[in-house]
Amino acid sequence: MKRTIFSKVIAAIVIVYLITSIVVFDGSINAVTLSSPKNVILLIGDGMGFNHIAAARDSKGAPLAMDSIAIKGSVSTSNAEGGVTDSAAAATAMACGVKTSNAVIGMDTKLKAIPNLSEFFKSYNKKIGLITTVNIGDATPAAFASHAENRDEETSIVQQYINNNIDVLMGGGKADFTDNPTKASNGTASTLYKVATAERGYTAVGTRNELLDTKSIKLLGLFADGDMPYEIGRDKISTPSLTEMTEKSIEILNQNPNGFFLMVEGGLIDHAAQYNSLTNVVDETLAFDSAVKTALDFAATDGNTLVIVTADHETGGLSKDITTGQYVFSTVAHTSANVPLFAYGVGAGAFTGDIVNTDINKLIKQLMPVQASPSLAIATASPFPAISPSSFETNTAAPTSTIPSETATSTEATISPMPTISPAPHISAPLIGLFALFVCAGIAGFVLIKRKAIVK
Ligand SMILES: [Zn+2]
Repeated sequence: MKRTIFSKVIAAIVIVYLITSIVVFDGSINAVTLSSPKNVILLIGDGMGFNHIAAARDSKGAPLAMDSIAIKGSVSTSNAEGGVTDSAAAATAMACGVKTSNAVIGMDTKLKAIPNLSEFFKSYNKKIGLITTVNIGDATPAAFASHAENRDEETSIVQQYINNNIDVLMGGGKADFTDNPTKASNGTASTLYKVATAERGYTAVGTRNELLDTKSIKLLGLFADGDMPYEIGRDKISTPSLTEMTEKSIEILNQNPNGFFLMVEGGLIDHAAQYNSLTNVVDETLAFDSAVKTALDFAATDGNTLVIVTADHETGGLSKDITTGQYVFSTVAHTSANVPLFAYGVGAGAFTGDIVNTDINKLIKQLMPVQASPSLAIATASPFPAISPSSFETNTAAPTSTIPSETATSTEATISPMPTISPAPHISAPLIGLFALFVCAGIAGFVLIKRKAIVK
């Protein structure tokens, strides 16, 4: 009799413990306690699916730098409507943590601006860098440092970069800066390029040698009027590689004692796949992989950096024909295929399994220490009269003719609390289970004593 009751009580305790643990674990994406990286490098191969990597590996005849990363997963990429994404919606998912419609940059489906990772990391006083092989105003970098209803608003997008003091900007798209009518601080007509260099402290470089030589800590590197050339056509003397841009970015950004966030895009993989050019897909993927190696080497030496490698979507429907061994494209468009995910360094353990593209954003944010009162500045009112997105409800500050200094806050909107931060629980599941166990033991003891009294 006593033995049966005792067994039942023990069984009840074990069940309660297990249920408590499971519920707590299911409560968040990642209940494992992970430390915060000082630096985060996110490398995005635009359009790079699993078979783009496989084709590059086959061509090289050896493992890629990406292959050396032990923590792997895959990412689903559909847009807010559940359809095939474009680069704008996919980059917004990663940069802002929300699903949106194609062509939308840094906003949700209601065209409300959502804080991006540049704004998030700036609130931690980290330096920010964006580099790409295509136009720097293109959709992927755009979502990480601007807000626009349509990706075509490139003149506004690049104005926002300068307005937001993004520390390192490199890629193509010089025309967007030189042909961008902007008022200088004295009210005279100027261009964004002149304002950036003369008034905002940017050093502009336009060749590989200028890039390698510069000691500037605020850099605007524009190496083509539009997209940069494919690797196959790149003048290796005058035009830097993505790897060289990555090396210089890290060199500059790593001078900040508070660390940095760097987004590196291999933008031409997508273009090559759209043209169904396997040669260029392979070349561009290998060039991207070389930049990945630079990031991994830095992270290994630094010991305080998280490196994430992924893609925004798959382009071309690339597959390997098992009879011929040839890689074949099935479309010139983007597809809904999942894309690869690799993570290395501090906090990398969170980036595993099959996740959704918005999870990349959420997992990165979860790794950062929770701030007492997060004061995230969404870049709204512009010092440049030409841009003033109407959808910003908080844009009430009157634009002035003076360019505010980096510390000016008059044009910043404060949003609080962060909509997407859900910090990893500080009390671990086993501890809560243990607490439940003590409570159960107490109740059981009480029941047993009471029962003993009745039996007597
Ligand atoms: Zn893309």
